[in-house]
Amino acid sequence: MTTQHADTPWTNWARTETARPARRATPRDEAELATAVREAAGAGLRVRAVGAGHSFTGAAVTDGLMLSLDAMRRVHAVVPQADGTTLVTVDAGTRLHDLNATLDRLGLAMRNLGDIAYQSVAGAISTGTHGTGARLGGLATQVRGVRVVGPDGTVREADATHEPELFEASRLGLGQTGVLSTVTLEVVPAYLLHAREVPLPLDEALARLDGPDGLVESNDHFEFYWFPGTTTALTKQNNRLGPDDDATDRSGTPAARVRRWLERDLVENGVLGAFERTASLVPRATPRLNRVLAAAISARDFVAPSHRVFVSPRRVRFREMEYAVPRHTLVDVLREVDAWLRSTGEPVPFPVEVRFAAADDVWLSTAHGRETAYVAVHQYARMDHTRYFAAVEAIMASVGGRPHWGKMNTLDAERLGALYPRFEDFRQVRKEHDPEGVFANPYTDRVIGPR
Ligand SMILES: Cc1cc2nc3c(=O)[nH]c(=O)nc-3n(C[C@H](O)[C@H](O)[C@H](O)COP(=O)(O)OP(=O)(O)OC[C@H]3O[C@@H](n4cnc5c(N)ncnc54)[C@H](O)[C@@H]3O)c2cc1C
Repeated sequence: MTTQHADTPWTNWARTETARPARRATPRDEAELATAVREAAGAGLRVRAVGAGHSFTGAAVTDGLMLSLDAMRRVHAVVPQADGTTLVTVDAGTRLHDLNATLDRLGLAMRNLGDIAYQSVAGAISTGTHGTGARLGGLATQVRGVRVVGPDGTVREADATHEPELFEASRLGLGQTGVLSTVTLEVVPAYLLHAREVPLPLDEALARLDGPDGLVESNDHFEFYWFPGTTTALTKQNNRLGPDDDATDRSGTPAARVRRWLERDLVENGVLGAFERTASLVPRATPRLNRVLAAAISARDFVAPSHRVFVSPRRVRFREMEYAVPRHTLVDVLREVDAWLRSTGEPVPFPVEVRFAAADDVWLSTAHGRETAYVAVHQYARMDHTRYFAAVEAIMASVGGRPHWGKMNTLDAERLGALYPRFEDFRQVRKEHDPEGVFANPYTDRVIGPR
């Protein structure tokens, strides 16, 4: 195990958080992980595991022991199930891109994914990372078991039948019950997605969202991007191909393929670096830049393995806030955000991203107990996000919005407690498994409350 007294501060991807941990360790296996936790707790240090540092919040920050699980990335078991799914147990530090590659080699795939794959499995599930799909849940709903290292180094195994409460509080719990050592995921046979990206007038996209033939229900994975100050929505309609479906590559000539990747970069990395820099230097040019961008997008149609469709690179650094709102409030929420942007003229050279999820039963899932729409707002890292995010947060509060646990928000435990019916159960399990607050930090003290 590498153990260091670190001098260089740690920073997250978005550069919104820094930490100066007293100690850092990179255990190579569960035994070393358990020893590192026990010794740190014994020395009176608090402990946080860090994944890829892709949370925008201070979720992973600590002044005590910062654990990296980067040296723990093994596959422990692959067990086919009678229903056609497979249970795959991996080290919790495994990055999603490595997991995707491993699953691909085994002829398997995740049922759903978010839009990047830099995260660790543990980090992604612990903050409620999700993709899109009205009949699907976030990554934590795909977890079937965990092994958790408690403050005294004891390892506990938990699943839906054995220690079910520990399981609930660990599969999405900001690492409050301990450090996840392994995670067992339910995965499915590898599949192709037919991706259709269609720009639509925003009003038309909103009018066609609902109902059995609506865009949300009739696609396996539906989302859209909307550029502030414009009336264009780029819709993404991704559907699974069955064994008998036509899997012809629809991406066209090599030139068309190059254009496709350029466009993808243009949209998903915000407005390429040059656009972003221009907007930060001349904010009043932002609406024009957004209109140019929105007009430049053309329809695309292609087939690819699922994880290649879900995931894109992110090269432009930004800040993000994302709220989960009851599905039926989405259109009103977007109209209010639009009205605020128009009335203030706030320069925002990044699209608003809208995604969907089924109701689930994970205690701290942002989609707990309700059909959900996710509204994510972004701001270029060199531009001020505070007014925009504060305005959006107020709009979200008016419909009982729940913030993504890994993205910027200002809510406290009192407010969050009112939004989650199982919040007190979560706090009870945390008290039982970490009574002294070894796994606490200022962020968890704010959002879950002190012990
Ligand atoms: C560019 C970008 C794109 C993103 N896209 C999406 C998206 O499409 N959908 C979405 O929902 N979110 C998205 N996110 C948010 C991201 O998925 C979450 O913030 C996620 O938590 C990051 O994973 P990580 O491995 O970096 O975890 P970190 O940020 O390092 O840690 C997150 C939390 O997990 C805890 N943790 C880490 N490892 C362990 C462990 N072994 N045991 C217990 N606790 C642990 C940490 O202590 C911390 O509390 C995006 C973020 C960025 C920067």
